[in-house]
Amino acid sequence: MLRVSNTLSKTKEEFIPLEGKKVKMFVCGPTVYDYTHIGHAKSYIGFDVIARYLRYRGYDLFYLQNITDIEDRLIKRANEQEISAKELADEFTKKYFDDMNDLNVTSVDKYENATDYIPQIIEQIQKLAEKGYAYEIDDGVYFDVSRFEEYGKLIHRSFEDIMKDEKVSRIEPNPQKQNEIDFSLWKRKKPNEPSWDSPWGEGRPGWHIEDTAISITNFGAQYDIHGGGEDLIFPHHEAEIAQAEAFTGRVPFVKYWLHNRFLRIEGQKMSKSLGNYITAREAIDKHGAEVIRFFFSFNPYYRLIDFSHHKIEEAKAKLSKIRNTTENLQILAESEGEKGVDVSELIKKTRENMISAMDDNFNSADALAVIFEFIRKVNDEIRKNEIDSEGAQELLNLFGEFEEIFGVVLVVKREEKLTPEHEQLIKEREEARANKDWAKADEIRDKLKEQGIVLEDSQTGSVWKRIK
Ligand SMILES: [Zn+2]
Repeated sequence: MLRVSNTLSKTKEEFIPLEGKKVKMFVCGPTVYDYTHIGHAKSYIGFDVIARYLRYRGYDLFYLQNITDIEDRLIKRANEQEISAKELADEFTKKYFDDMNDLNVTSVDKYENATDYIPQIIEQIQKLAEKGYAYEIDDGVYFDVSRFEEYGKLIHRSFEDIMKDEKVSRIEPNPQKQNEIDFSLWKRKKPNEPSWDSPWGEGRPGWHIEDTAISITNFGAQYDIHGGGEDLIFPHHEAEIAQAEAFTGRVPFVKYWLHNRFLRIEGQKMSKSLGNYITAREAIDKHGAEVIRFFFSFNPYYRLIDFSHHKIEEAKAKLSKIRNTTENLQILAESEGEKGVDVSELIKKTRENMISAMDDNFNSADALAVIFEFIRKVNDEIRKNEIDSEGAQELLNLFGEFEEIFGVVLVVKREEKLTPEHEQLIKEREEARANKDWAKADEIRDKLKEQGIVLEDSQTGSVWKRIK
């Protein structure tokens, strides 16, 4: 039974989609004015694992993400660079896709730009105004938070409590607003800003309404999962709930709210001012995309984690340990030996344990522990020479299932064949060993090593591996 931690109920709940096995999931995408940072990478990999696991468990998932291609910071940055907001957004959207591609984040079915939803945004604002939830002042249209009784239900605070919070009430200060915490639905055009025509004059949408326009257009009034970073709970997601439920009259807008926790860099908060800000691209260039992917795939999305040199080295070592076992299994799968042990029970048990780890709110750290327990048992059997070619292939197939869920290559294919020269040398060395000509055997081994081939000797002969 799959259980998920729902921010809305503050409990771990059984996951029951609204409609049979169909699951609709929306995750807040990037604001494309700058490079994706390592914290975003953590979040998007986390939700990619969730999406992959839901599909693995037989759910028919549709995963939607928005791209915020119009926003204050984006407009400011574009003006500084003397290019249009669209040019800047296109440039960083492309970079975002490149990063996601390298990190093997491939589960999203559809990406939608906010600026492609202006008519739907206007329609939602109009209806909110008709229903008395929106009002117009000099600089645009606002949502009257006091009209939505359940405002605060996601952050689990009362309206009065939020009003008292000085930090919160400083959101978009404007003395004309009816409540300090009212948020913007439509911003009237200022000089040097891109704009669209609307019943309230030239302007552009507020941030929160972009997401409800995209999600309601694609999913309807209610859907299953909304994900995002923990920093988005308030006011962004709280505002989405208020807008959507006021607009459609249907409650709840979203059944399960999942939030990704941040990371720390060497124990510290990541910030540009501390000089420890790392972009996803820098991390990929430094450690390799596969190591970054492995690291985030096996750290659950809801955990605060430390992105440190030590932890990354540890992830690297773990990945190569797994790959070492899968290489040995590939060698066995290619070999012809005696009949080995039946591995079906081990496979069945491991799969069950992995599912029960992931069914507990996608606990990928526990899933990794299951994989290592499995590796330990497989290595034992390999040492005892108990695995035949067929068994080796079945075990490799299970690693294939892990790859599907976690998006990491665990089985690196051995190159099909050695060159005829390599094969000749290996043969000569076998002969030398048979004749106990150790000097010659060592000489050939060194020669092969120079060419990237290492030999491992055992009682039954030697096997080759490529040095990685
Ligand atoms: Zn969002």
